[in-house]
Amino acid sequence: MASITLDHLVKKYDDGFPAVNDVSIDIADGEFIILVGPSGCGKSTLLRMIVGLEDITSGNLLINGRRVNEAAPRDRNLAMVFQNYALYPHLTVFENIAFPLRLAKGKLTEAEIRERVTTAAATLELSEHLDRKPANLSGGQRQRVAMGRAIVRQADAFLFDEPLSNLDAKLRGQMRSEISQMQRRLGVTSVYVTHDQTEAMTLGDRVAVLKKGVLQQIASPRELYEQPVNLFVAGFIGSPSMNFLPATLEGNVFRTPVGDIPVVSERAEVARGRGVVLLGVRPEFFEDAALYEPAKLPHGTVFEADLTHTEWLGSEQYGYINFEPTPQVRELLQSLARDMDAEELRPQIVATLDADSKLRGGQRARLWLDTRRVHIFDPGTGENLT
Ligand code: ATP
Repeated sequence: MASITLDHLVKKYDDGFPAVNDVSIDIADGEFIILVGPSGCGKSTLLRMIVGLEDITSGNLLINGRRVNEAAPRDRNLAMVFQNYALYPHLTVFENIAFPLRLAKGKLTEAEIRERVTTAAATLELSEHLDRKPANLSGGQRQRVAMGRAIVRQADAFLFDEPLSNLDAKLRGQMRSEISQMQRRLGVTSVYVTHDQTEAMTLGDRVAVLKKGVLQQIASPRELYEQPVNLFVAGFIGSPSMNFLPATLEGNVFRTPVGDIPVVSERAEVARGRGVVLLGVRPEFFEDAALYEPAKLPHGTVFEADLTHTEWLGSEQYGYINFEPTPQVRELLQSLARDMDAEELRPQIVATLDADSKLRGGQRARLWLDTRRVHIFDPGTGENLT
């Protein structure tokens, strides 16, 4: 098992643009770390630098405290699990799992190889399939064979490069929980690359959010959700995404394009005297005011807005409030979208409402908002001020 230290790692490709830009992360022995971010943020490059498939331009990479910048991949004792599993179609499950052991010729006897493969297969519930070829396995079983290969090598760490992205949604969910259980059972240090925030939030002990090669925040899933450091992380984590509402604090109300929102939380004070700020409001911070529980009242505020339409999903509903942006707000939303790599940010608020809510599109709605949890961002720097 291993600790892995990324110390100011930089990767510049031939064009000179830093694909990975000064990333430092201390990965503890046995920890499950997720690297997440939009396409092109540098997460695969970073993983490939760790495993030795990509040169390090500057900075240090340490495994168990030993600098390995120049070590060949095979000398790092890390096991990589790829998206396409890289299984050999003509070999049985047994031989696919045994493959890395046979490569390391001369080290193990046939009996030792058999012992390791059958033990790994038992852990992965593949014992009954050892004689099958990959073509006769389900996607999930193939995934487990790929992990079996990593296990038999007794690697110091597992590195996963979007291993689930070829699977359909249902299997993805199953495999996600299998990988999570397996990792906890084996207690092996793991680094996992994904652009899927559900995978990131459910699998990781800690999640590192990258944007254009720069580490934005590394924290537990809960902390990322509750205390994102900036607009980018706030918009990336959570589904549906956090709403960003331009607002100005006047006296004890926030003037916003969807209406005036009374202030009841001291958090709001950071907005005083700042002109326009962005309120960060997750859809789940709203509720139909007719359904709120009195116990929650001290923490929230009620305001009115025109509901554009609703979507009923069975367990809940989404209520949409469109607003007419001023030219200044339109420009702000456009620059925000560019910053977040989003196609556009609509002048719209999404509110998650209880499935029993009777609110419908075209109505003036009374909404309850949990103001304790509202974030306030600086629209210029993107920094979370709360
Ligand atoms: P994706 O989710 O699309 O795989 P990613 O976050 O894994 O994206 P990388 O593949 O690490 O991103 O790429 C990071 C940046 O480096 C991108 O701008 C990409 O175009 C660039 N890049 C990647 N590989 C090379 C290469 N071999 N030569 C030049 N530039 C590269």
